[in-house]
Order: sequence, then C-alpha cells, then structure tokens
Amino acid sequence: MRMSKMYMKTLRQVPAEAEIPSHILLLRAGMIRKLVSGVYGFMPLGNRSLMKIQNIIREEMDAKGGQEILMSAICPAELWKESGRWYAYGPEMFRLKDRNEREFCLGPTHEEVFTDIIRSEVDSYRELPIYLYQIQTKYRDEARPRFGLMRSREFIMKDLYSFDRDYEGLDKSYWLMYDAYTRVFNRCGLNFRAVEADNGAIGGSNSHEFCALCENGESEIAYCTQCEMAATTERADCVDAKPEDAAELPLEVVHTPGTKTIEEVSQFLGIDKTRTIKALMFKVYGEEGKPETDYYVAAFIRGDRELNMTKLINALNIPEYAIEFADENVMSEATGCVGGFTGPMGLHDCKIVVDSELPGLKNLCAGANQADHHALNVNYGRDYKADIITDLKLIRPGDPCPACGAPVQMARGIEVGQVFKLGTKYSESMHAYYKDENMQEQVMVMGCYGIGVSRTLAAVVEQNHDENGIIWPVSVAPYHVIITLVNPADETQAATAEELYQKLTGAGVEVLLDDRNERPGVKFKDADLIGIPLRITVGRKADEGVVEYKPRAEAENQLLPVGEACEKAVAFVQDGLRMGL
Ligand code: ATP
Ligand code: MG
Repeated sequence: MRMSKMYMKTLRQVPAEAEIPSHILLLRAGMIRKLVSGVYGFMPLGNRSLMKIQNIIREEMDAKGGQEILMSAICPAELWKESGRWYAYGPEMFRLKDRNEREFCLGPTHEEVFTDIIRSEVDSYRELPIYLYQIQTKYRDEARPRFGLMRSREFIMKDLYSFDRDYEGLDKSYWLMYDAYTRVFNRCGLNFRAVEADNGAIGGSNSHEFCALCENGESEIAYCTQCEMAATTERADCVDAKPEDAAELPLEVVHTPGTKTIEEVSQFLGIDKTRTIKALMFKVYGEEGKPETDYYVAAFIRGDRELNMTKLINALNIPEYAIEFADENVMSEATGCVGGFTGPMGLHDCKIVVDSELPGLKNLCAGANQADHHALNVNYGRDYKADIITDLKLIRPGDPCPACGAPVQMARGIEVGQVFKLGTKYSESMHAYYKDENMQEQVMVMGCYGIGVSRTLAAVVEQNHDENGIIWPVSVAPYHVIITLVNPADETQAATAEELYQKLTGAGVEVLLDDRNERPGVKFKDADLIGIPLRITVGRKADEGVVEYKPRAEAENQLLPVGEACEKAVAFVQDGLRMGL
C-alpha cells in the first residue's frame, strides 16, 4: 500500500475522555473513530488488525472442529422469553419493536438463537458433538461504557456454542476450547493468564476467564505463587477464620454515641475490627411490575472484611441488576434496623445472609438496632440466626490461598475471553433434546465460549506500546513493514524504495510505502504511532545501496545493504507470524 493513496487521519488532539493508552493510541493513530458513547467504527488500519485477530480465531476454532455461521444480530423476544432471560437480562439489553409492535432485541449474546437452531434441526446422538460459532457484532447497553473498545456498547465477539450428549462430552469440548483460546491469545502476542471465574449460582470450577495481564484491566485476579490457584477476586473462595471455642459471655448492650462506622465503634470501645460484625443492607427487586415480590436483604460479615457482591448475588440466586444498596432509614420501619447501628439480632422481614466464618467466632460486637447502641458478646445461634450462611468474603492480598494456605497475591487484567460450562440451562428451558442409541430422548449438554475480538485488539495495544505509539506484534499488525522513503523526489531513493517494496510484497510481506510528500520527521512519527513492527528507511545512503533497518521495539537501527535488509525483513516477519504456533 502506498501511503500517498491511503486513507489515514492521525489525530494531534485526543479527546479528554480517553484515559488509557489503548484508547488514546487507537484514536490518535486514526484506527478507530467514535460515533457516540461506547460506539466505535474501525478505519482502514484498525480494520486490518481487527481482521487479523478474527482470522487467528477462525483458524483455531476450525482446527478444533468448529464451523462458522453468521446469525442475525436482531433477535425475536419470544426466544428470550422461553429461556427466561427477556426479563432477567435487565437494562443492558437493547430492545426494540417493529411496526406491528412485535418485540425484538439486539443480541447481547446468542445462546437462545443457537439453541433454537439445534433443537429444530438435530435429532440424533450421531450428530453430536456440534461446535458452531460466529464472529459478529454484539449490543449491550453498558451502564458505564468506557476505555474505548474495552467496554463498548457495540462490540465484536466470537461466540461458539458446543452441544454434547452428556457431561463427559462437555468436559472434552470445554478443554478443547480452553486449548484453542490459549493458542489464540499466544498468537496475538498477549501476556495472559487463564483464571477460574464466577459461574453464577451454579458454582464449581466450570468457567475460566482469559485475562490479559495489565494495570488498566478491570478484572482483579487473585493468584498463588506456591500452587496453581488463580481466580478472579469475584470467584476466589476465602478461608474462614478458625472457629473459637471460648465460652459464650452474657449479652450486653452499651452506649456508643455517634459511632456509625466499624472504624468509629472499634476505636470507641477499644476493640479490634476483627471482633465486630459489619452490616450491609440491600433491596432486591423481584418480578417487574410486582412490588410485592421486592424484598430486603441484610448481609453480615466480620468488621474488617469487604463484601463480595458476586457471592451475595449468587447466594440469593438473582440477576446482577436486581439488587441495590438500601437506605437504612427507609427500611428501618419494615425491618427494625437502625441506620449506623444495625446488627443481626431482632431483625425481621428481611433475608439475613451471614458470612460463613461468623458462626464460629465468639463474643463479637454488633449494632444493637437501637440508636447510639451496640451489643457486646453477640453469638450465632443464641443471639441471631441466618436464612443463608455462605462465604461472602472478598479476597485480599495476603489472605491464605484456598487451595494451599500460602499468602495470595493480586494482579489486574483485561478479560479477553471466557469459557463456560452451561450444562442444561438452555437445553432444558428451550427443549433441546436428541435421541440416544435406544431412541430415548435425552437433553443436550451445552457450553459457551466467547472472545471479545475488539476488546482483544485494545488489550494488545495496552500491552504493546511506548510513549511514541503502538508496537504491534507481527501477527496482528495492520502491515508488517513500513518503507520510509525520505525524499520521494530523489530518483535513486525512489527507485530503491520501489524495488524493496516489490521484492517484499512478492515474498508475501505486507508493506506500507511512505511515499508522501511530508517531512521525514512526520513520517517517522507516524510510523512509530501506527506501530508497524519493522521500518526500513531509504534515505541518502541509497546512493551506496544502503538502507536503515529498525524493528519498532528496538531503540537502535542498523545500516544494511538493500539485499540483506530485504532478506532480514522476510525472516523477521516469518518469525513473528510463527509466534505462538
Ligand atoms: P464483563 O465482565 O467484562 O462485562 P462479560 O462477562 O459480560 O464481560 P461475556 O458475556 O462472557 O462477557 O462476553 C464474552 C466476551 O466479550 C468477554 O470475555 C469480553 O472479552 C467481551 N465483552 C463483553 N462485554 C464487552 C463490552 N462491553 N465491550 C467489549 N467487549 C466485551
Ligand atoms: Mg458484562
């Protein structure tokens, strides 16, 4: 491609809302353009990199027996009503009506659509397993679209669905996909880690997230340096404090004026925060339009701990959007709680969820449900009871590893993909059955496997850049090599650049020829910004048959005879493309 003909509009001014390097650089390099909040378009260079990622994914999916299809983004509401997700999905779903008032959504994911195809067309065990996938635009009206491609409202996803005869089959499919994902992200040049992920109310080790490790990631990972344990903080099990066998002391209510926080009450009473119980109050919304199905929840954990919302949501078996913090003053009449002095004793008309370590701890301090009072020597069983006892703790650095006990460490990452054992959730609700060898009807067992294609593009930039711009790995670079022609008016330079361009192109290398009438400084800046992995500069030394050879990732350049530079460039590209294979 000759840059004099290429549509490329780099930016000098970056919108203030772009906060992280990938967002800033993709905009500056003119690779993406924002239309409205959370909605982006891909310009020629950005689109090429996006296609490269898609092709890597395609190759790896196909290698595992995946078959590509393309379903519609617009989906009829009926399917979602069948699975029960039309309401459960909540405000993240873009909904619309046609001229006849029929309801649709713009697919945020496609379990329903794929299940619908398979249930109506697959009948026999002989056809299973089936792996179908698509690379398609998804729509989610995210509460907080941000970071450009990282969390957008329209984005590109690869989603594959596996249909198996039984759980054994699903297990095979799952690890096949796990392996494919490992290959995909290696080939994209990402430094990533597969970690155990939250699996909703089902629980168990039935899901992994693939996280590109980086400071700006939205996912937090807990991992162990002594064993294999790695999980998102949402998912990570926590170890309970050791149960105590101290005698239960008599309950005592004490005056603790103005001590509304754990910090304040522990200071006032001179006790450690680990000897206190923290209360967190929530309102849960039940069925839409039926306020009588709404209810309150009081959650209790040790005073020094943080609550893990995902664990609470799973314990309640509710959708994520159906819960919010409740105003204690509003709920006090209904439940008996008192703002700042809420404890587990004597609460009524609310669901009481207690962290699993509290019952084992003796003589704790909790709010007395009286203004300006706390209770001392509060003990589970004698003084309060729970509707649900479960692990509600958010893991912290230094906490014991749930697998081996060594102190855990934390890292941040970008979730670029997830593999998930669905089991029979959709095949049961949507009646996806097959006939086995004995002509008996059996329910299919499903898995789903997503890759955020556009998010992966952003993650690659997030991990591969410097202050001058992007540094693409060869495998996803929009072009492999850029030939910077310093003076297009100089005949020798122009001829040398042209010859190099033809030779490299002929060898299968994707080449940009910067033949623009721009100052050399501008050309070098642009080459760095758009991040082409290798630059060959044809300047004054072309008279002696010498050019400058410089990988984008290296500080130094080399002077080489044209022929040698050409050979070296071909080898450089081939090596880069083999990465991760
Ligand atoms: P997140 O927790 O980040 O919201 P998710 O669990 O909702 O992700 P999935 O439903 O598993 O995501 O979607 C599959 C993949 O699609 C994710 O692993 C992620 O890479 C990508 N993805 C999800 N939401 C977005 C988004 N708003 N913008 C870009 N990519 C996204
Ligand atoms: Mg999400």
